[in-house]
Amino acid sequence: MKKGIKIVSLLLVFLMAFASLAGCGKTDSTINPSEGKYKDGVYEGKGAGNGGDIVLQVTVENGDIAGIDVIEHKETEVLSDAAFDKVITAVLDNKSTNVDVVTGASFTSRGIIAALKDALIKAGGTDEIFSKDPKINVSNKETELEQTYDVVVIGGGGAGLSAAVEAQAAGANVVLLEKMSSLGGNTLVSGGGLNVPGTDQQKALGVEDSVETFIEDTMKGGDNINNKELVTVMAENALSTAKWLIDTIKVEFIPDRLQQFGGHSVPRALIAKGNHGTDLIQKLETYANDLGVVFKMETKADELIVGDNNKIVGVKATNASGQEITFNANKGVIIASGGFGANLDMRKKYNPEIDEKYKTTDVAGTTGDGIVMAENIGADLMHMEHIQTYPTCNPKTGIISYVANSRFDGSILLNQEGNRFVEEMDRRDVISKAILDQTNREAYLVWGQEVESIGNMTELHKDEYNNLEKLDLIYKADTIEELAEHFDINIDTFKATIEKYNEYAENGNDEDFNRRGSFFPIEKGPFYIQKVAPAVHHTMGGIVVNKEAKVLDNDGNIIPGLFAAGEVTGGIHGGNRLGGNAVTDVIVFGRIAGENVVK
Ligand code: ADP
Repeated sequence: MKKGIKIVSLLLVFLMAFASLAGCGKTDSTINPSEGKYKDGVYEGKGAGNGGDIVLQVTVENGDIAGIDVIEHKETEVLSDAAFDKVITAVLDNKSTNVDVVTGASFTSRGIIAALKDALIKAGGTDEIFSKDPKINVSNKETELEQTYDVVVIGGGGAGLSAAVEAQAAGANVVLLEKMSSLGGNTLVSGGGLNVPGTDQQKALGVEDSVETFIEDTMKGGDNINNKELVTVMAENALSTAKWLIDTIKVEFIPDRLQQFGGHSVPRALIAKGNHGTDLIQKLETYANDLGVVFKMETKADELIVGDNNKIVGVKATNASGQEITFNANKGVIIASGGFGANLDMRKKYNPEIDEKYKTTDVAGTTGDGIVMAENIGADLMHMEHIQTYPTCNPKTGIISYVANSRFDGSILLNQEGNRFVEEMDRRDVISKAILDQTNREAYLVWGQEVESIGNMTELHKDEYNNLEKLDLIYKADTIEELAEHFDINIDTFKATIEKYNEYAENGNDEDFNRRGSFFPIEKGPFYIQKVAPAVHHTMGGIVVNKEAKVLDNDGNIIPGLFAAGEVTGGIHGGNRLGGNAVTDVIVFGRIAGENVVK
């Protein structure tokens, strides 16, 4: 099935199939006269996916599966598209419940199959019947094991897609290799924030900003060890890049909203529609597709091919069908494979402190492959020990919590004993370390309506909120006492802490931690309490590049034919990346890599 078909269009197909069946009048369960596997009829089934239950409606006709309708699901958009597309198509084509999972979407794939079986059991299906179904592999197969393009891009996140678009737009023919079944990488699951000085939003809100201030904030936030040349390129190109995203790629940003992430001296982050990276990735994908970029999904780059004069002339890759494919690159290769937050061994190799006690917010594909491939052919690496943790994640999964962004609107952090222990607006690393020093390595965010009414985080991120509630990680109550009771926190200390904080808020002076930013009391119910823990979020280190996104070797020489952009590179964020700087970095340098590979 062709990549890119969305559930909406799939649904149409299935609904049409369903409508024609309904026209046959077979809506009730009746024993099938031809002794098929199942009783004819329409059945609903439920299976657990990544974000909650997946509900399918399965139509059985002539004793076998004839139609599948997705009634409901809460899987991540884009990330789960391929699973719905491929698994359902394979089930229908092969009349089999024994379909393989899709790479990178295994939970969703299993949830779909579980829902299918749940429905079919109601139609008389049994494990014995299911076990006779043929095993179906949903992976793509290549006909040519050696293929030649002008440019090979490794990785389909924000950097890879931007690079592919610019290279193809400049006349090259581009192939993009993505090892997962869906595009997007960490960019997709990000909050979609992009720091840009000089936007219309800043002008409308009367925010004074400049490229210089952006550079200063970024350098200071990175402990001044950042590569200032790269920071300057990012800052100088941020505005034109935002305009490109808006005018050319048609990304939609919330018109009247700017966010001020920690470490920035003014609000300067544009926020993509929906407050996540989905719009960004979908629009880049659509644009790249229209231009003619060739996508090879579930195709993992393994090795760079070195030609004459040490020029990089291609990539060896393996796809999910186990085929080994050579992709030759006439002009060059761009590595945009992201960081290594999801690679525990690599994390421990470079920074033993960032061990198994940290889960990660990162997608499964961020395993540092590009860094290893580049190092193997002599590329230089830098800042590998600088690994950022994000303080307020789901303690059970490591997934970043957007509901917890109530912190930026003024919620406070308490420990199990009911005491505050850190300034809530401090740097990510400082708060993360402080939380790990507390009982159970966890903390609680607490807020009331004064804060909730600013960003409406529990409404804006309703699905996440419901999921957190199910996991007993968030609790809403009419009184402060109930919050403490629910999570077994000492009520007296808890109340005393909040009373003291309310006094500070009234006087505008936090005598204990000198809180910056939004500062409100916690007096109006209903109140919220959310359990949080830190998780690995970004790897600042990586491949050494110059300002043209060209990869350098250990002696500072350019490795011909090799470019890198995005989280796979090192230096730009120094010892600590500021919020909203990743997306600016990956799009600015992705474009630069794409432009330069063609020159
Ligand atoms: P960036 O923000 O720098 O663009 P992302 O994390 O958004 O980084 O995207 C990186 C993408 O690269 C992910 O989709 C990931 O699955 C993909 N990737 C990682 N390693 C490989 C590899 N060896 N071959 C192909 N794709 C890869």
